[in-house]
Parts: sequence; structure tokens; C-alpha cells
Amino acid sequence: MQPIRTFNVSPALPQRLEPLRKLAYNLHWDWNFETKDLFRRLDRDLWESSRHNPVLMLGTISQTRLNEVAEDEGFLAQMDRAARQLEDYLNDPSWYPKQRTSKRKECFAYFSAEFGLTACLPIYSGGLGVLAGDHLKSASDQGLPLVGVGLLYQEGYFAQYLNADGWQQERYPINDFYNMPLHLERDENGEEIRIEVDYPGRKVYARIWRVQVGRVALYMLDTNIEPNNPYDHDITDELYGGDLDMRMHQEIMLGIGGVRALKALGLEPTCYHMNEGHSAFLALERIRCMIQEEGLSFYEAREAARASQIFTTHTPVSAGFDLFPPDKILHYLGHYCDICGLSHEQFLALGRADTGDLEAPFNMATLAIKMSSFVNGVSQLHGQVSQALFQNLWPNLPESEVPIKGITNGVHARSCVAKPTQELYERYLGPNWIEAPANDRLWERVAKIPDEELWRNHERCRSDLVVFVREHLQKTLRLRGASPAEIAAAEDVLDPTVLTIGFARRFATYKRATLFLRDIARIKHILQNKKVQFAIAGKAHPKDIPGKELIRQIVHFIREENMMDYIVFLPDYDINVSRMMVAGCDVWLNTPRRPREASGTSGMKASMNGLLNLSILDGWWDEADYVRTGWPIGAGEDYADPTYQDDVEAAALYDLLEQEVVPLFYNRDSEGIPRGWVSKMKDAIRLNCPFFNTARMVRDYAELGYFPASDRYFVMKQDGYQPAKELSNWRAKVFEHWYSIKIKEIDISQPSELQVNQTMPVKAVLDLSQLTPDDVRVQLYQGAVNADGDIVNGMTVEMECQGTDAEGLGLYTADVTYTTSGLQGLSLRVLPKHRYLSSPYLPRLVLWA
Ligand SMILES: *Cc1c(COP(=O)(O)O)cnc(C)c1O
Repeated sequence: MQPIRTFNVSPALPQRLEPLRKLAYNLHWDWNFETKDLFRRLDRDLWESSRHNPVLMLGTISQTRLNEVAEDEGFLAQMDRAARQLEDYLNDPSWYPKQRTSKRKECFAYFSAEFGLTACLPIYSGGLGVLAGDHLKSASDQGLPLVGVGLLYQEGYFAQYLNADGWQQERYPINDFYNMPLHLERDENGEEIRIEVDYPGRKVYARIWRVQVGRVALYMLDTNIEPNNPYDHDITDELYGGDLDMRMHQEIMLGIGGVRALKALGLEPTCYHMNEGHSAFLALERIRCMIQEEGLSFYEAREAARASQIFTTHTPVSAGFDLFPPDKILHYLGHYCDICGLSHEQFLALGRADTGDLEAPFNMATLAIKMSSFVNGVSQLHGQVSQALFQNLWPNLPESEVPIKGITNGVHARSCVAKPTQELYERYLGPNWIEAPANDRLWERVAKIPDEELWRNHERCRSDLVVFVREHLQKTLRLRGASPAEIAAAEDVLDPTVLTIGFARRFATYKRATLFLRDIARIKHILQNKKVQFAIAGKAHPKDIPGKELIRQIVHFIREENMMDYIVFLPDYDINVSRMMVAGCDVWLNTPRRPREASGTSGMKASMNGLLNLSILDGWWDEADYVRTGWPIGAGEDYADPTYQDDVEAAALYDLLEQEVVPLFYNRDSEGIPRGWVSKMKDAIRLNCPFFNTARMVRDYAELGYFPASDRYFVMKQDGYQPAKELSNWRAKVFEHWYSIKIKEIDISQPSELQVNQTMPVKAVLDLSQLTPDDVRVQLYQGAVNADGDIVNGMTVEMECQGTDAEGLGLYTADVTYTTSGLQGLSLRVLPKHRYLSSPYLPRLVLWA
């Protein structure tokens, strides 16, 4: 039955409880315990059954209960306190205004296909989403003028349960937007703000929802409206849902629709951040606007757009990139090709590394890189891996100089550290521990936390986890219709006093969730004789059959080997389950196949709670102090044979458990405290908290990405985009004459024997053809020579132009010294130079002697 009209009915709150509405609609409650406790206190059962959704609670709670708390002095006092805290938070001056004192209004638009903010908004699938959510929370904490842009999926990411055989089943909850902390954006007449996007043969409309994350707004598009046709209704139905065509529809809506939505809302972003390549079409839309509205050429518009766009890549393998067949790109985006005035080949080349390969698919990561003035990977190791992956975009540049940086991920401390642990840190470190940098003296106070207190607190977190696991397990067993005996057995799984190893992550095969089962006899021995237990959780992608197989293997192992007392698999891993596990386990296990884990963040959450990591040297762990804050499995070796690698690394895992982890955990003094363990916990807190958090991370993004990109945005726009035009003309000129540059002469007067720190003058003569010394920088490139005869990790020395001679040849000089002995090499190269260029490395424009 279709209604003839619909109404958005909001809860009727007694006047005195009005502050609850504002509290419920700002996700600040997700990381503020006062507010969270307030809602839990309002109705504990509803809080749980609504999946911690205060808006749904206020809509369904009985009027009697509301009237009751409206008279409850204690409740009201807590409510007023929470409301004040939100007010104070929103007005706190924070970090950003101190960094950017200019009056120019900046806006940083952060595009992502998924956002993991809180459990009642299931629009995320895993780490990428949780990272994006934490990015928004910390941007809010730091006061950045940032807005998020995404899609609002009608179907939530699936809820997981297992059938009796241990095979993953998926249930898709339907998101009821009106009962979620969402606002529908309306214009001054109260009409829904709508945007339209062109698709082949039709327009698709979308409306805009906002979720308020502290001070930061996240805008999400929703196509499930009239007059869209049924197919188009489903564009925002499911996260990464459907086939390749649906993927294309979604990415067009995210990138192109996202840019239009911001405009419709009256926002003028000065920097666009593409979190992963899904949103890279945004660059095309920005270029279109500048062509049609500002009268720029494609090349001028591209300079202007690129200057203010940045890109973060998250995958360490080329199979992870989003690829589209060329004909699909032309089918869906042919009109952009026409507007830009490009041939099909030129247009497709925007998404190809090798522009001459006319068969190559269109790669969204390549498009994003070509359209960005700053690119980064998500850990130091992943930054390097990305340099190798994308080196083909900068042929003849040494891999170490490929302009891709590493900005290591972090986690939002207030969201992932357990409440009693935060209170403990607050007591001993002071309130600034949340964002104090590593060199702050405050971290020395970690040593002053009494061992007893830290340990008792941690034991309490472990007990809380055990209680949670038992309840959670029973609930899911009931849902599945399990036998009463099975449900009863779940009542005493896990032992709150036993060394607990946590493993929770997506069940992608490269994460090797079953590595610990490689030698059944050995792991059984460890579990039964060494007092160790495992808590395991994670979802496999619905189409990932091998991933589901791993879950089944674990369930079967538990059942067939009678390991119920030692291992639990917790279904339906989500943000809440994660928070319990990273607080209540003792050790956080991670066994990816290096270097497949670009960063990983759950280990950071664990570390912040004082857990010790036991992990393959991959992602963030590779750059952490892995000796003092946990244990590395292996030493970062590369193996050609995966079976052999599994054998070696599983054996290393067992050895570590038996020889290091178990003895340290159970070595107690007369008061029952494992002093050695606690000391390692303190190292984990002291060394990892200050760095692996999103406060540090968003400041890095701001300083390396947003601020420079915004500055360039304002420069490019000056005088009717004059700088963009200048840069575009210059680039065309440089490309035309680049290959005519000749290095005529290099004069090194020195014989081939040199001493350390001896100065060696070098002179060079260059024929710059039609270019001038202002167009190029000439550099010496020096460094140790390896066995293959290559200079590795070379250093550069700028050569100075001493003027041009009668024939127009440029004379360059510089002094070189070597600070280390051995076989050293020297080379010379020419790079382009322009005051508006964001980086001296332009694809193909490197000339080596
Ligand atoms: C933190 C988190 C992740 C990411 O964990 P990894 O270590 O990157 O696998 C995934 N899912 C949830 C629910 C999380 O909270």
C-alpha cells in the first residue's frame, strides 16, 4: 500500500528534556561517556536493542518513562552536564585557528565511499570506513573546516551470523533514515535540496542527508527518491553493491554528485581530498565547471583543479584498484569527453599509466594521481610500496623519489580507549594525553601509574569482555535457533583470568586468520597446557568464498577438537565488538602476508588500551617500536613460496607464544602482578599513543595536504585564473621543447680519487633550446653505487646558473662533497621549474646526463 502522503514525525519530548534532542543528533555522544551513559541510563534495553541509536530510542521510548526522567533530579543534572560539555566542545578554539590566521575562508572536502562512525550507522565495511570516520572525528576535535562527502546506503552493511555448519550468513538491515541521527538538507522554503547528475539518456536526482560529527558535517547522497527509475533508486542501495555498471553509477554519484551537492549547499571547498580512488570522477566535474562557467580550456582547468586536489591510496597491490573497461567509461562519461574537447584516446589516457596502450582499462587510482598535487599511502612501508606500484607514472625517476609520501594512519583515541582506562590516563597524565605529541614530557608520567592500578584496570576490562562475549554469543545463538544446550554452554565460555589473544578483522585470505591452526597438535598443546584462550571475530565479504571457508575452519576446529573453552568465534564484528575486544584482550594478533596490510588500525586501538601486539612486520607495526611494545613475528622477510612462508611464520608464532608471551604473562609476584608484562604495557601506551592517533594524522594531512592545496586554490583563482592559464601555457611549452635540451659538457676537474669531505667543483654547460634558465632546475645527483652500478638513495645538489654565453648556452656550477667513503657515484639531471608548480616531478620530464 503506497501512502498518499508521508510525514516525518518527531518524538514529543517534555520541555525539560529538549536538550536530549540536540545531544542525540550530534554524534559527539559516540566519544563522550557522559552522554552515552545518559542514554544508556534512559533505557538500557532500548539502548542495546537500538544498537546504541539515541534517535531511535527517543522515538520509541514510552511517554511514561520520559515523564519519569523529566522529574528525576539526578538524570536532569547529568543531562545538563552533557549538554554543557557539547556546548563547550563546539566552542573550544582548538588547533586550526592557531595555524591559519588568514581571514580567507577555507573548506576541505573529504570524499569517501564509506564512513564508520558509530554502530547504529552501518554504512561501512571495515578499516577504510572506520579510518574515514575517525578522520572526521579528529578533524572536528582539531577545528578543521572540513566536510565529509559520501553516499547514504539504504541497506546497511550486512549483519553476520553463522549457520550450524559455521558457514557465514548475511542479513541486510534496512536503514530507516528518519530514525537515525540524520538531517535532511532543505532550502529556506523547507523544500528538500536536490541535485541532478547526467547518466546515459536520463538524469538521476539525489537528496542530501547530513550527519553532524561534532563540528564537522558529513553530507551523504540518497537516490532513493521519485522521479528516479527503480534502477536508479538502487544506486545508493548497497555499499560496493551490484556489478561493474552499478559500481560505475555509484562512483559517478559520489564524485560528480558530491561536487554538485557541495555547491548546492553553498560551500566552496578550497581542497578536495579523495580517500581512495572511488571518488576520482570529482576531478572531471570540477574541470567541467571551470570550462563551462569560467571559460577556461581543459588544460587550464586541469591545472586549477589539480592544484587543490589530493589523493590517499589504501591498497598495496595493483589488483586492489578500481578498473573500468574503456567502452564503459565512454558510454557513461562521453559527454565529459566532449565538453573537455578531448579525443577518446586523450580522455581515456587520464586513467592510464601507459597512454599508448589503447587496450588498457581505465584505472581510478591513476586518474586520482594524475589529478592530484599531493599523493600519499597510509603507512611508511605502504608509502614505499606505492612508490614502486606507481613508478610507471614517473618513468626514469628513481623509485625513492616517486612523489608519494607516507602518512601513517591513526585511530581516534576517545572512541577506542575503554572508559575506565581513559579515566586512569586522565588521572595520571592529565587531560592533554589525548593529543600530546611524542616529545611531550607528559608521557613520562606513564611510568608513575602504579602497576597495581594499571593491572587491576586491565583485568576489569578483560572481565567486561568475557561478560560481553557470553551475552553476545547467547544472543546470536538464540537468533539462529540453536539448541538450549548450546545456548547454555555459551554461558561460561572463556575464563576471565586467562591470557586472552584477540584476532578481529575482515576475513580476507591475505590476513591468514587460520595461520594459528597450521599445526593442530601444537596449538592444542598451547591452549590446554599453557592457559591461553582466543577471541576471534570478523566478517568475510559476501562474495568471498575462500574467506568464508576460513571462518568455517575455525568453527569446525572448535567443535571437532572440543575447544569451546579455549576459542570463541564472535559473530557480527562491528565497531562495538571491536571496542570491547581491543580493550579486554591481552595480546592483539595479526598475521597478514606482508606487505598486504597497507596499515591496519585495530592493533593501534589495542595498543592504546595497553595491549601488546604480536604481529607480522607489516603496515603500521613495521614502523612501531615492536620490540618494546609487543613481539614481531619474523623479521619482515619476503618469501617466494607461500606454503613455506606459512610454515615458518606459524612456527615462529608458536615459539613466541611458548617462550615469550606465556611466561611473561604468568610470571607474577607475591601480589599477583606480572611486573614484566605491566612494564611492557606501559611502553605500549607511552610509545604508541602519541603517534598512532588521528589527532596527529589529521594535523599531518592539514600541514602536508590541505593547507598547501588551499593556498594553491587561492593562487590559481586570482585574476580570472591567470596563474592557471600561465601554468598551462608553460607546461605546453616545456613539453614541446623538453627533448631538445642537451647536456653539452660536464666538467669534473677532479681525478677519480677523492677524500671524505673534500670539496669538488663541478661545471656543466647546457643547451636549453627554446627554454630559459627560469624554466629548469639543474641538479647533481650523488650517492653510493651498488653492485648493479646504480646510485641508490641519491642526494641532490642544486647547480647554480652563472648566466648564458654568446651562443645562448647556460653555464652551471656547484660544489660536491662526499661524507662517506667507498664507491660513490655522480650524475646530473634537469627537472622543470615554475613558481606555480606543486612538485618538481612531472611525469616524463626528467633528463639525465
Ligand atoms: C578498527 C576496525 C577495523 C580495522 O582493523 P584492521 O586492523 O585494519 O583490520 C575494521 N573493522 C572495525 C569494526 C574496526 O573497528
